[in-house]
Formats: sequence, structure tokens, C-alpha cells
Amino acid sequence: MPDRLILGQTLEARGNPFLDGPGAMVHSTRGGVLVRDGRINEVGDGASLRAANPGAEITDHGAGLILPGFVDAHVHYPQTGIIASWGKRLIDWLNTYTFPEEMRFSDPGVASEVAGRYLDLVLANGTTTVASYCTIHPGSVDAFFEAAAARGMAVVAGKTCMDRNAPESLLDTAASAYDDSKALIARWHGTGRARYAITPRFSPTSTRDQLSALGALWSEHPDCLMQTHLSEQKEEVAWVADLFPEARDYLDTYEAAGLLGPGAVFGHAIHLTGRERTRIAEADAALVHCPTSNTFIGSGLFDVSLAETHRTGLATDTGGGSSFSMLRTMAAAYEVSQLRGRPAHPAELLWLATEGSARALRLEGETGRLAAGAAADLVVLDLASTPAIAQRADRAGDIWEAVFPTIMMGDDRAILETYVAGRPVTNKPL
Ligand SMILES: [Zn+2]
Repeated sequence: MPDRLILGQTLEARGNPFLDGPGAMVHSTRGGVLVRDGRINEVGDGASLRAANPGAEITDHGAGLILPGFVDAHVHYPQTGIIASWGKRLIDWLNTYTFPEEMRFSDPGVASEVAGRYLDLVLANGTTTVASYCTIHPGSVDAFFEAAAARGMAVVAGKTCMDRNAPESLLDTAASAYDDSKALIARWHGTGRARYAITPRFSPTSTRDQLSALGALWSEHPDCLMQTHLSEQKEEVAWVADLFPEARDYLDTYEAAGLLGPGAVFGHAIHLTGRERTRIAEADAALVHCPTSNTFIGSGLFDVSLAETHRTGLATDTGGGSSFSMLRTMAAAYEVSQLRGRPAHPAELLWLATEGSARALRLEGETGRLAAGAAADLVVLDLASTPAIAQRADRAGDIWEAVFPTIMMGDDRAILETYVAGRPVTNKPL
């Protein structure tokens, strides 16, 4: 395959804007990304790259903005079909909408159809990597990894484990959760671009025995991730305190089971105690901010300044979140940050949606960054995709004023192209 030279505006993260300021993102109005064998070979000045690589196949996106593909660090692909369901808070949401839908995934045909539909939706929204919860059924994990492999995508996924407080047909046991997860790790972890995450749904639906069995499994496979939920709603935190009276706090229910360490990924993490914040940072575990979900389900306002001290990613939380779009998710993160009195800068929002999420998933270097060596997972944004956005961007004095209207008002119409490992995929379903 010949080299491919992709031309347009570029924004390269040379540092973390939460620590180094917006200047950590370097803008070029006429940049280029040279792709060789699915990986980024070089990022630089477009004209220079063109002169130095006369044999490269050229794709010129004009004023389109080339970014790393978005990385969505917490989703439930099985909830694709129930996104935007009305009127429930967390526990009633699970019982009313989620659990009945997840029962359908005992049928591998359903799992396969939804996995493909979900991944095509996110690619159309510029997202190239996701970390998904599957259902209790091992076949739901196979279906997801197979659909991702067919599209060349780097994804993280795991079988959701629950052995209490859910309908009978969605329960496993401590032993079967261990055995099923172990077999899935052997089949999928490190196969192509697949990564496995050991996935207890959350402490209310796992007994101590199940959490401990999964902690033991993680200690045998420390290069896997461990994903779960933490302190999403106050009622949930109170329920956990009732179920685990011996625990110091919610995090301690995981910590006591060996489920806190590097590679742990905690979704939501809104109502944290000081001890929890400290321990998560000490363990170099990650937090994932899911702002459309947190407002939609009425959970609360995440403290985005935690990204200054913790590995922090950004996520849609499909289908508790109300959008498949990481643009819409960045907009919601901005709104939440305003409500907490610390407006997130567009550089911070874009970083969270790319490298921040990649770091949360321990995929830094592999994806989420415009840098030599990373996979050529890219999104190209049209910064004037609707008349409303175009008339505002037209008055922009710099790249941040030019990109912020698309963050706040953009959707899948703003996606000029999505590349997975160098291959253009937008609007070209398999
Ligand atoms: Zn979730």
C-alpha cells in the first residue's frame, strides 16, 4: 500500500493543556499527516511533507481540521437501542430500560447486529476507539470484538459481571464470572487491536465473593484493564454504604477486593470523598467524565479540575448518555465546568476526548495522538458544517475561536472523514 499524505489544518498535543495551558496544543493552518502501513509516520508542514514524499497518495481536506480520532472511554454498546429513554434516575433506569434490553443479548444474532450498528454510528461521529461494557453473555463480548476487528478498530471491552440485585436471567456467579472472563481474556486480549477489561458492573450488583474473584483474575492478568462504575448518584452511594457496612467508602469496596490499581477505570466518579480522590491518584487509576449522562440521568457535576491530578478520560456513556457524539459530549463537559465555575478551555476539551481518554485506557502511544508511531486513527472536522456554525467561525480570531463553535454546536455533519489505521471509513459502512 502506498503512503498516504493527509493535508489540512492540524492540532498536535505536545503536552497536557491541563498542566501546560492551551499552548500545549500546536496549531498549523497547513499541516499534514504522513501515513505508512496504518501508522502515523510523520506530522509536519503540509508543503514540506508533499515535497519530500512525491510517491504518496494525497488527500487534501483544505481547511478541515485533522485531529486524532475521538476516544470514548466508557460506553454500553448494548444500550444503543434504548438511548434517549425518558424520566428515570439510575436504579430505575437500570430496572426499567437497561436490564430488559440486555436480556435480548442472550441471542448472538442480536448482539452482532447491535455491535455493528453501534460501531458504524460512532465512526460516523469521528470516534475511532471505545471502551464498552457488554452484557452478562460471553457471546455479547465475542460479537463486539468481532465487529470491531472487521472495522480495524482498537477497542476495549469486557463481559459485565453481576451476581445479585438484577433479574435472574442476567445473573452469573463468582465462579462463572471468573471462568467466563478468563476464557474471554485468552480469546481476545491482545488479539489484533482488542484489549480486555475485567468488568464488574458496580458494587451493588456484585457480592464480595464476585468482586474478590475478579480481583484474583486481574492479579493473574495485570495487563488487562478493570472497568466499573463509582459514585455516580448519591442514592447509589448510600445503597453501597448499606450493602458494605465495613467499607470506608465506595472505592473501598473495590480496593478491598484487589480492584484498585494501574489500569482501573472508574466511570462517573462524581461524589468522591477526599480519601477516594487521594487513593485513585496514588494508584494511578483513571476517572471517566460522562457529562451528557450525568445531566440526563440527573447524577451531578464532575469536577473537571481532577484532570490536573488524575488520569481522566471523557465518554458518552451510551445509552445513559444522550448522544453518540464526542462533540456533543465536549459541549456538555463545558457546560458542567461552567456550572462548577471553572470553564474548560477548548484545548482541554479536545485533549480529554483524545489523549486524555487514551491515557485513561492505557492506550497512549497507540491512539489518541497526532504523533509518529501512533496508529493513524484520525478525524477531520469541517469547522463550518452548518450555516449557524459557519457564520460564527467566520469571525474567529484564532484556532480556539474557530473550533469552539463546532464543539458547542457540531454533530455528525461536522465529520468530513474518519480514518481507522489510515483507512477512510466515513459513510462507507462495511
Ligand atoms: Zn456506564
